[in-house]
Amino acid sequence: MTIPPAHALLHWYDRHSRTLPWRLPDRQTGDGAGTHAPDPYRVWLSEIMLQQTTVKAVIPYYEKFLALFPTVQALAAADREQVLAAWAGLGYYSRARNLHACAQAVAARGGFPTTVAGLQALPGIGAYTAAAVAAIAFGVPVVPVDGNVERVTARLFNMADPLPAARRTLATLAAGLNADPQARARPSAFAQALFDLGASLCSPRQPACGLCPWHANCAAHAAGTAASLPRKAPKVARPVRYGVHFLAMDAAGQVLLRRRPETGLLAAMTELPGTDWRPQPWPEAEALSHAPVQAARNTPWQVAGNVRHVFTHFTLELVVYAARLERFSNHDVRDGFLLPLEQARGASLPSVMRKCLDLGARVLACGTDSAEQAPAPCAPVQHGFAGTGSLLAPSAKAGVPRRGRAGSARTQVPPSKAGDAEPPAGAAPPEPVPAPVSTPGPSRRGAARTAASRTGGGRHAIRRGAARAGRRGSPA
Ligand code: SF4
Repeated sequence: MTIPPAHALLHWYDRHSRTLPWRLPDRQTGDGAGTHAPDPYRVWLSEIMLQQTTVKAVIPYYEKFLALFPTVQALAAADREQVLAAWAGLGYYSRARNLHACAQAVAARGGFPTTVAGLQALPGIGAYTAAAVAAIAFGVPVVPVDGNVERVTARLFNMADPLPAARRTLATLAAGLNADPQARARPSAFAQALFDLGASLCSPRQPACGLCPWHANCAAHAAGTAASLPRKAPKVARPVRYGVHFLAMDAAGQVLLRRRPETGLLAAMTELPGTDWRPQPWPEAEALSHAPVQAARNTPWQVAGNVRHVFTHFTLELVVYAARLERFSNHDVRDGFLLPLEQARGASLPSVMRKCLDLGARVLACGTDSAEQAPAPCAPVQHGFAGTGSLLAPSAKAGVPRRGRAGSARTQVPPSKAGDAEPPAGAAPPEPVPAPVSTPGPSRRGAARTAASRTGGGRHAIRRGAARAGRRGSPA
């Protein structure tokens, strides 16, 4: 098959490119060079945020980051906790840690490298992001291959081999799409035109081939196979892990939190104290033996609800307990720290922990005298479960929160049934476990019993952009 003509795609892009906040109006069709070159900081920031995340979800975060950290130097000088807090809710938290580390590296060297190899040497920048920043910000004639470009390529060449095995071949084919001199004359526009074609006309399920500038050169369109490509290998069943987390609140309205370890899944983020995440459900007596504090005699631990959260390599099912106590002792906070509830909501909580916090706070607010604090109903809530799925005992499902004390064996926490997958807030797909499971998982700081059994890892398992149309945008 011959390479489709670049001028057709560029002409279409010049007329139909998406308007995105990281694309300055007068730079939509720029070639990434000269006085109108895009700001590499904005290009890089948007590209990192758009990994695995929809354009719609990214825009408010992108604007917030630019307001808080208008330059890469400002981001480098910021406290990491401030960066994590600004990122909270966007998911894939290793991106935020790497973002900060990368900003510091760039500030230290006086600016972004201008080559693909130089960019890829920075923290958190893989092959795709390096190519995207190089092409868009610095006019390097390379083709960044994200999920959209992968799909367009599979269809142009009618590639029937399934992903992920076909990924390397598709990357090679995609790299040749800019062989046309007109594509190489406008690397920034050509890369973004490919992004936009995949995000609009060449959509996953119903490609609008009749409107496509390349329909005369598309093998899948000619063969009538476009909508079925790219093919994907059957999915392997995602294992389930179980955990229990505890929201304890004192009379002053402070809640007990702790910091996750510096490496592994959700590294350095804030969480409610809890158990490991393991393959077996936690019977209540065993779960409550991990309670971080002794609940008050008249307000023992009670089930606040369940949270189901889907990561890339496993589904997490949590039971949330909540309790009040008069005050925390120094011993209670030896592995954590206290924050007023509202401040805790603003801390660097990953979305799964934000749900746990809200569940616990909701149950604790029931029965208070304050109208503001007592929303109804007060029954336990299940986040991310289908109608039949439950981790709760029948009494809890009926609206009566179960109560227990540490060491009690009165009730059991049965295994979950099937339920709906719940992607992280603001993100399109499941949250990635950053690396193969061989990396030690997160542990409770200072507590050996939680040191080794959670799944965790180092880097993102998925390096390419989101695979469905609209999941990502292209900066300029
Ligand atoms: S002709 Fe259809 S399948 Fe081929 S690239 Fe265009 S939109 Fe995609």
